[in-house]
Amino acid sequence: MKYVMEDPWKIIEDGYHPEDNRLYESLMSLGNGHMGHRGNFEEDFSGDSLQGSYAAGVYYPDKTRVGWWKNGYPEYFAKVLNGTNIIGIHVYIDGKAVDLGQIQPKNFTRVLDMKNGCLDRSFTYDVHGKSFDFIIKRFLSYDTPEIGAIAYQIHAKDDAVIQFAPYLDGNVHNEDANYDEFFWENCSQYCGPDYGTITMSTKKTGFTVHTAMKSTLHSKAGLVTEPASYKSDDRYAEHLYESHVKAGESVTLYKYFSLVTDRDHDISKLTAHGKTKLEEAAELGFDKLYSAHTDKWAEIWKEADIEIDGDVAAQQGIRFNIFHMKQTYNGEDPRLNIGPKGFTGEKYGGSTYWDTEAYCLPFYLSTSHEDIPRNLLIYRYKHLDKAIENASKLGLRGALYPMVTMNGEECHNEWEITFEEIHRNAAIAYAIFNYIRYTGDEACLSEYGLEVLLNISRFWADRVNYNPYKDCYMMLGVTGPNEYENNVNNNWYTNLMASWTLEYSLEALDWVKKNSPKRAEEVLEKYTFTDSELETWKDITDKIYLPEIEELDVFAQQDGYMDKEQILVSELSSEDLPLNQKWSWDKILRSCFIKQADVLQGIFFLSDRYDIDTKRRNFDFYEPRTVHESSLSPCVYSIIAGEVGYHNKAYELYQRSARLDLDNYNNDTDDGLHITSMAGTWMSVVYGFGGFSTSDGVAKFNPFLPKQWNALNFHMLFRDRLLVVGIDKDNVTIEMVSGDPLDIEIYEKPYKLSTDKPVTVATDHSRAID
Ligand code: BGC
Repeated sequence: MKYVMEDPWKIIEDGYHPEDNRLYESLMSLGNGHMGHRGNFEEDFSGDSLQGSYAAGVYYPDKTRVGWWKNGYPEYFAKVLNGTNIIGIHVYIDGKAVDLGQIQPKNFTRVLDMKNGCLDRSFTYDVHGKSFDFIIKRFLSYDTPEIGAIAYQIHAKDDAVIQFAPYLDGNVHNEDANYDEFFWENCSQYCGPDYGTITMSTKKTGFTVHTAMKSTLHSKAGLVTEPASYKSDDRYAEHLYESHVKAGESVTLYKYFSLVTDRDHDISKLTAHGKTKLEEAAELGFDKLYSAHTDKWAEIWKEADIEIDGDVAAQQGIRFNIFHMKQTYNGEDPRLNIGPKGFTGEKYGGSTYWDTEAYCLPFYLSTSHEDIPRNLLIYRYKHLDKAIENASKLGLRGALYPMVTMNGEECHNEWEITFEEIHRNAAIAYAIFNYIRYTGDEACLSEYGLEVLLNISRFWADRVNYNPYKDCYMMLGVTGPNEYENNVNNNWYTNLMASWTLEYSLEALDWVKKNSPKRAEEVLEKYTFTDSELETWKDITDKIYLPEIEELDVFAQQDGYMDKEQILVSELSSEDLPLNQKWSWDKILRSCFIKQADVLQGIFFLSDRYDIDTKRRNFDFYEPRTVHESSLSPCVYSIIAGEVGYHNKAYELYQRSARLDLDNYNNDTDDGLHITSMAGTWMSVVYGFGGFSTSDGVAKFNPFLPKQWNALNFHMLFRDRLLVVGIDKDNVTIEMVSGDPLDIEIYEKPYKLSTDKPVTVATDHSRAID
């Protein structure tokens, strides 16, 4: 089903669809790294809606919900908190509240403008036999992240009394609270002629969030800067503005709001800071604030845009992904991370999953300056002590990073699945390697990388067990990336990545020993690593057990995978899908169906180790068994499909990844967007169609163009250079917009790229085999 109109820069809900309102609210979410909210209406709405406003880094440790408590369960599940509704405006026409749930609007559109980072709505509303046109614009400033603004205009076709009551409302709940608890306390409110505020603190975590609002009314009668009246109630503040409009006249309410937290400011100065920000915003006015905001978006697009010529659906899809990634995380605060739902819903708790290292890091490496991906690595470094504690709680040595976290502590809600997904540790180690490979910043190993790597390796070495009968090391009782198998033995991906981590850690140690011997000594001493411990790691990498399905010459996802009844997804009825909504958990676990890239994830990470035939054989075996019920899945399959010559399949999987939320493939977009997988979509363009890879400081491209497209252009930052890669049916052209000359390879041939000398070669069509 098509939910939105196709447009290269906009997400358009054309017509009024209250039955899918939650879905549109997710799609139209706004964020600026500091705060965000769903695409809710400002005015009253009695229809179905998930009201959601979120402040980055503010969470609540909701008590974990389990049947029978066991040692090792996390104490809590960190909830992304729904906070004060700051966008609300009650609107009254001749005394009657505007409510699109009661009176259906005409000519309704809700539009997410991705170029400018704003949400626009317009509709005609008829009441009391009179007619009114509404035009509403709102944004959360990317320039001044603690500020947002709304311009709410009504054009009257008949005389009327129009009242606006902008408000702040802290009476909000998290719909998915485990025990239906209210998460806020110590709430206070103020409302005067100057401004209104709500201050609330979270229970247990004690974060204080202060929100403030101020409005102005513009009409033919002139400018009104103070409300006619104001009131406050429990966790509620409201101003009232009134305008008598004649037919043909318009009235606009500008609502400015600020959101500040004691994560960023001393609590004693919080209120004053919020007020200053608010006053500065109101003083500047909507237009100037908006223009500073859109300038920031223009800068982002200059470095991160992808243009697809000849396929509007694909173009819209990729910009939607880039836009939401940039709204969720701007990398400026190293305490923050990229939650799987960002600011678009409350469904997943925590803010950090392995998604960050495995999927998001490559996106930030290529679309932002180096300190931002670096902050993502430092985030984990700062959590190292907690990861060591986490491993020791489970009776293991070394560091086990949490599967879900806010502050370094494990806080997932689903023990059986999540607990055993220890593969996440490998993604964190891999991210260090990936960052260095991309940026060349090897010094990060001495500063923080080595400590993380060695402690993760120590964990792996403790977690494997030696099998003397087979003379190899095994890893029992794990869950791989494919969450439709729990507690399996010898997940190929986990064993592979564990052994790779040990190998890489030893290399990293050698590098630090050579380049910064004192530091190497210091780290070895701090954690008491001995030579014999490090020698064992070598033995493990030599003798790790990596299961195979010999008769098919493919890697086995885990021991016993072939004992399962082998059915293909194509043999399932459409009524069975998605499995996670239609089948019992028991049936899913016994089936051969794969939720997301697992073996293929390993092939993707360690791509250099496998030749094209090996990749193709594994793709041919696993893809038909994969239901892609994790949003993280299609992008990895798309990249490998492209590499092995299945260009049509790569395109099909790309569309699925890019338009996953826009077309609601997994029937769950109403809960919020799949933010982290959006970085995967980006990878499927740059690493997939662009065929990008890098080693030794050389940027390499093996591009192809899906036949549905006329041309593809993508911008990427690489070692202080801005590159634009263009692929069309005839040529591949790589330009350097800024930076020093760079060694590149196209189709394995070397070139020197400089700002005055783009490189153009003929597009290679010979690799397509489907
Ligand atoms: C996936 C995990 C992922 C999590 C958060 C799950 O559905 O299976 O791999 O980490 O979502 O995105």
